[in-house]
Amino acid sequence: MLDLSDIGLEPVNDAPHRAPRTLPVSLMRPVTAAARRARLHDAIQSGELRNRYQPIVELATGIVAGVEALVRWHAPGRRIRKPNGFISLAEDSGLIAPLTFAVLDRALSEVSRWVGVDTALGLSVNISPLLLSDAHLARRIATALDRHEFAPERLTVEITESHDIADVERAHHTIEHLRGGRVNVALDDLGCGFATISRLERFAFTQLKISKSLIDRTVASEQARQTVARAIEIARAKGAAVVAEGLESAEAVGAARELGCELGQGFFLSPPLTGRDLVRWLGGAGNDRQRALPSGWS
Ligand code: C2E
Ligand code: MG
Ligand code: MG
Repeated sequence: MLDLSDIGLEPVNDAPHRAPRTLPVSLMRPVTAAARRARLHDAIQSGELRNRYQPIVELATGIVAGVEALVRWHAPGRRIRKPNGFISLAEDSGLIAPLTFAVLDRALSEVSRWVGVDTALGLSVNISPLLLSDAHLARRIATALDRHEFAPERLTVEITESHDIADVERAHHTIEHLRGGRVNVALDDLGCGFATISRLERFAFTQLKISKSLIDRTVASEQARQTVARAIEIARAKGAAVVAEGLESAEAVGAARELGCELGQGFFLSPPLTGRDLVRWLGGAGNDRQRALPSGWS
């Protein structure tokens, strides 16, 4: 059935004799930006946003280094929505901070409860670059960590590529504050957005995530291979780890290792999982992070 919300239209409420979901397009009116914002606001408040967790794995050993929280919207009666549409809505409508802290709070609570507090399993949470201009970001994250008694060294904030960083100086300070609080900082999605080599040189990041599109391009493009090599060189100079994203096959894992990425993430290793499925996937024991490697792994 057509999901009207996905095309930005919803049934006209004052057409009582018609089945709402079968209205012809001509009888629908656009959902206003204010209505979409109000829905998202309510969803954040009422807990309709849930997290999936995708494992991040050491490519040499198969040990699970951590998990990345990826938000989903479970609106009642609708199919689960992926973040691409509503993250930009949150960013454009002033809801990205409450959304981010809802995701962070849930992730800290679920990982503590299901995986355990005294494990070294890392947790990564995505942060919009827009939030880097919030002078209180690092303090608010530290408060959330304290509330859940979660060691800051276990948390990585992944700065996404959804926007350019408007105020580089302020972003630099925010990253310094995060690092001062022992929180790790990843630069997400190298190769599909605004990240440039000069930005890599500028920021004190502890992890670099190379996008699926750039990893895939290295197969055929010498230029892509050189970009990755240079990025890895900068990461190494900073003591940062390098993650290859979007690994969908044993060949992709092999290629990522050859490029010099020590960590990997992708459907070949595991798709994003619910908290419960993650615990099962981990073998039920948060402290035993070595799990059976997928077939085809060498
Ligand atoms: P991301 O942070 O780069 O997350 C990785 C995305 O790649 C996820 O999509 C994941 O499901 C997908 N993925 C993982 N392995 C594979 C693979 O092998 N092949 C392919 N084709 N895709 C793979 P998802 O969950 O739809 O998230 C999309 C983006 O939305 C994220 O990209 C991130 O930028 C953003 N996002 C997700 N959760 C949050 C959040 O809580 N806050 C913010 N600000 N952004 C978020
Ligand atoms: Mg990410
Ligand atoms: Mg990414």
